[in-house]
Amino acid sequence: MDFRTVGILGGGQLGRMIVEAASRLNVKTVILDAANSPAKQINATGDHVEGSFANPEDIEKLAAKCDVLTVEIEHVDVPTLKKLQTTYPDLKIYPSPETIALIQDKFTQKEHLIKNGIAVAESIAIENATEQSLAAVGAKFGYPYMLKSRTLAYDGRGNFVVKSKDSIPQALQELHNRPLYAEKWAPFAKELAVMIVRAVDGKVFSYPTAETIHQDNICHTCFAPARVPDSVQLRAKLLAENAIKSFPGCGIFGVEMFYLDNGELLINEIAPRPHNSGHYTINACVTSQFEAHVRAVLELPLPRNFSTMATYDTNAIMLNILGDKETKDGELQICERALRTPGTSVYLYGKESRPKRKMGHINIVGSSMTECERKLSYLLGESKDNGS
Ligand code: ATP
Ligand code: MG
Ligand code: MG
Repeated sequence: MDFRTVGILGGGQLGRMIVEAASRLNVKTVILDAANSPAKQINATGDHVEGSFANPEDIEKLAAKCDVLTVEIEHVDVPTLKKLQTTYPDLKIYPSPETIALIQDKFTQKEHLIKNGIAVAESIAIENATEQSLAAVGAKFGYPYMLKSRTLAYDGRGNFVVKSKDSIPQALQELHNRPLYAEKWAPFAKELAVMIVRAVDGKVFSYPTAETIHQDNICHTCFAPARVPDSVQLRAKLLAENAIKSFPGCGIFGVEMFYLDNGELLINEIAPRPHNSGHYTINACVTSQFEAHVRAVLELPLPRNFSTMATYDTNAIMLNILGDKETKDGELQICERALRTPGTSVYLYGKESRPKRKMGHINIVGSSMTECERKLSYLLGESKDNGS
């Protein structure tokens, strides 16, 4: 299909699933990450680079081996990517380094969205985090409010809920030495997420609006389409599309948002890469988020409506498999139940089991959400009916 090589900064599960999608199109991929990382395990080209996506020299080694450079994580060294644009003028870097820079600092990302007229949760930068400055935020936003690390956050590691003035010392302790901003509490009814593909000409394509449910700040399940009225799904899609139109470059983006009790939609954050809320697309859509990303960064065709569900009545639930808190590999019991359940698919990432670590996910697909929900109850051990 294509004779160019795609280099991927990061070899976690997202990289692994990009590799799978690329392989089906005969597209060669090379990975920069630690030896035996999930993406390398399923890709035997032998050209991989061992090192870190945060290390300039390692990134340069990867760049020397590929025609297109992309990321599976936003916490990469952007100055090196910008330098590569000069040293390798023919190398395509997608998403563009400028976009990654805007997004990897969550406060800069907010400022960019506001400048482009996109609704986001109200927030303020904290230049100097002290008991006084955090109390001043409490006086302005009320309690609880969310204190967030501007950089290197994931799975809520970098967030602290400031419940009252009394929790300020603990907040300072938990998030010391990190650049911070504070965000007004978003009283959401639901969290929604939309995957958007941006083509090199700036056209955007959206996947259906999905609904995510988090437990302890980590995505637990994702329902697609979201269980909200069609009008809300449409507003979410338009908000997400407008947001992604404002970022240069191309590729797939995950847009997380809050659907407030008063009906308002606010963007929480954007990921310039495949996203956990888009895993359902592997089974529920004709083109997965991973294939869409590969096609976008290679500037391959993205026909109109390519990102629709497989059939008009497809419904899907994605369940994340997190490392069992008590027994190592205990989470595999859920996978075993999934294998016995019709309409489900298990994806394991080749990682060593650790409590709460993302070990894999299960997609459930059915012709009604009720059917998918029944199967989810079975997988979670809440019912004995697996629909077979
Ligand atoms: P990830 O990148 O893995 O999605 P993260 O570490 O960047 O996570 P956020 O997305 O900022 O963290 O927040 C994690 C979760 O915390 C959100 O999905 C939401 O459930 C909750 N949350 C975040 N900000 C707010 C807020 N302002 N008000 C209420 N809840 C919030
Ligand atoms: Mg995040
Ligand atoms: Mg998030």
